Amino acid sequence: MQPIQYNPDLCIHCETVDCLMKCQYISFTGTEEAKTEKLKINGGEESRVLRECLTCYACQEYCPFDNNPFYLLVERQEALGILPAPRPVVEEQLRMMAPKGRITPQAVSGVVVDMCAFPMLTGCIRGKLFEGATTIVGTDIFCNIMWLHFAKNSTIRERVPRIIDNIMHFYLKDSNIRELICFHDECYGTYTSVADAYGIDVPFTPVHQFDYISGRLNELQDRIKPLNVKIAYQRPCSNRLVPHTDKALDEIFEKIGAERVPRTYDRETALCCGGVPRAHQRDELADELVEKNIDDMIRTGATYCVFNCPFCMATLAHEVAERGLMPILVSDLVQIALGE
Ligand code: SF4
Ligand code: SF4
Repeated sequence: MQPIQYNPDLCIHCETVDCLMKCQYISFTGTEEAKTEKLKINGGEESRVLRECLTCYACQEYCPFDNNPFYLLVERQEALGILPAPRPVVEEQLRMMAPKGRITPQAVSGVVVDMCAFPMLTGCIRGKLFEGATTIVGTDIFCNIMWLHFAKNSTIRERVPRIIDNIMHFYLKDSNIRELICFHDECYGTYTSVADAYGIDVPFTPVHQFDYISGRLNELQDRIKPLNVKIAYQRPCSNRLVPHTDKALDEIFEKIGAERVPRTYDRETALCCGGVPRAHQRDELADELVEKNIDDMIRTGATYCVFNCPFCMATLAHEVAERGLMPILVSDLVQIALGE
């Protein structure tokens, strides 16, 4: 097993300890205390951070040196048996999301869009935007990044190489296709950031859906009818692993005439949708986060609440709609601008 890639010397000499000082869920008296806790984590010792962490992924983005603080935190949680969720919940999820071995070879053509484990979303792949695309979906190609929320790096190490092998063997290899559009940015985060940090080989080129959509909008420029709407964006935890893709999203919004309104809880200060603490059975915290997010969106005067992650959408869509905003996925908003 390859250890998580990180350089302990960078932390020893780090002056800002941004990974912990910027955390929105754990408070420190100052950088000295944060540094003490960080060095305990690095040294494999108990730290209160390991117990108080919401698993929001944000410290991965906050570290200015890309020193993988969150992946290491998960490693230590697992080694010390500190589970963020009750053990029966973890066991049940492990069984439910396991590869089922029901995959069969399928010839694919055109652009191949990985829908992860969300068959209910394959209807999003339609119209000019995804013309000629093939979708692949199911638990046998589930990206497995969710185990970062459950202190299960061992499951990531065990399952991710297997699903990469499934993608190549059952779909891409015989069709001679080497590019995979990741509809869910959790998949993109797995095949780029996680794969790098955990030393997992990826034999295909992952493409984020934002990059694909932005490119298609250039080709379909004549069809765009600017929406002229204000939108509140709910940035998901997984985007913390691939923050550069957020710029491609801004380009998409600009191209379709959607104004991403400034929110207290967007970009670097995005707040968890509430779905993760709900899964951890921390309902009070989940309710608080849902409330904070929706109040914040309402204040902006936005018409739409735009989601990238289907799990965020499942968590917030109902209440967002009840409070008068239209919940929608990025690709569906783009389809409206294309008149489809
Ligand atoms: S992980 Fe990054 S931000 Fe945190 S102490 Fe180490 S170098 Fe500094
Ligand atoms: S994952 Fe989120 S809650 Fe946990 S330490 Fe990092 S920033 Fe804080």
